[in-house]
Amino acid sequence: MKVFHKISDLQNELFLARKEGKKVGLVPTMGALHAGHASLVNHSVADNDITVVSVFVNPTQFNDKNDLNSYPRDLDADCKLIEECGADFVFAPSVEEMYPTPDNRHFDFPPVTSVMEGAHRSGHFNGVCQVVSRLFYIVRPERAYFGEKDWQQIAVIKCLVKYLGISVQIVECPIVRDEDGLARSSRNALLSSDERVIAPNIFKSLKSSTDYAKKHTVEQTHDKVIKDINAIDGLEVEYFSIVDGNTLQDVSSWDDSQYIVGCITVYCGKKPVRLIDHIKYK
Ligand code: AMP
Repeated sequence: MKVFHKISDLQNELFLARKEGKKVGLVPTMGALHAGHASLVNHSVADNDITVVSVFVNPTQFNDKNDLNSYPRDLDADCKLIEECGADFVFAPSVEEMYPTPDNRHFDFPPVTSVMEGAHRSGHFNGVCQVVSRLFYIVRPERAYFGEKDWQQIAVIKCLVKYLGISVQIVECPIVRDEDGLARSSRNALLSSDERVIAPNIFKSLKSSTDYAKKHTVEQTHDKVIKDINAIDGLEVEYFSIVDGNTLQDVSSWDDSQYIVGCITVYCGKKPVRLIDHIKYK
């Protein structure tokens, strides 16, 4: 496995691979990798001749400097995991390499970008689109892998691909959880041991709400999830939205769509750590 910090070095290697007709898969990450990321890398290694894993904490998608500064980083451990998964190239550029000049492009795909994370993290998806579009231009992958953990992000990336008019296949990979149900996340490393004990209640409440939903309305289910989670000391719901899984717009009845998902963001602990999760109702 080779590790690149410079765009030109990576592109020289990719040029040679392409000359041999090899297909390239890209797995964009911000590092602090765990089993959720590994599943994306495994999918790419299985589907493609060459897998590139990018490790880059993208400053333009953080609207909170403290969040950016406290984001966990460990490139050596990341490279070890990526190599174990059988990927070929790691791309770990500096901020200056990714953004030699400020990225002034503005991406907005309402209504997909206006709701949930878009409404609560101003500029977040603009930053995501800036970095992912740059990665697409640099790597030119046939396929790119994204986790369902970030449900809304996949919908935004699909809008981005349409908008850019590029031919990259977006592959969606299922969410990976710890045994107690907590969604794997790089941010879990920021939880204290006490917080780690209460955090699985997020998924526990979501999961039990699927039974509740069978005999209750969308509004009742929505309110119950928020009430259950907020009742736990140390957890505070930022938003919970029950939406059409594709358009991400609120539904008011279970009959409104074939495909309904509940997306949640919860603050956990004193500092606090921002955790996201989702549940499929149908
Ligand atoms: P991040 O490093 O958090 O930006 O995530 C990089 C990619 O890994 C994104 O496509 C995420 O959706 C995906 N990912 C992160 N956590 C998980 C998880 N628990 N299960 C599946 N995919 C994940």
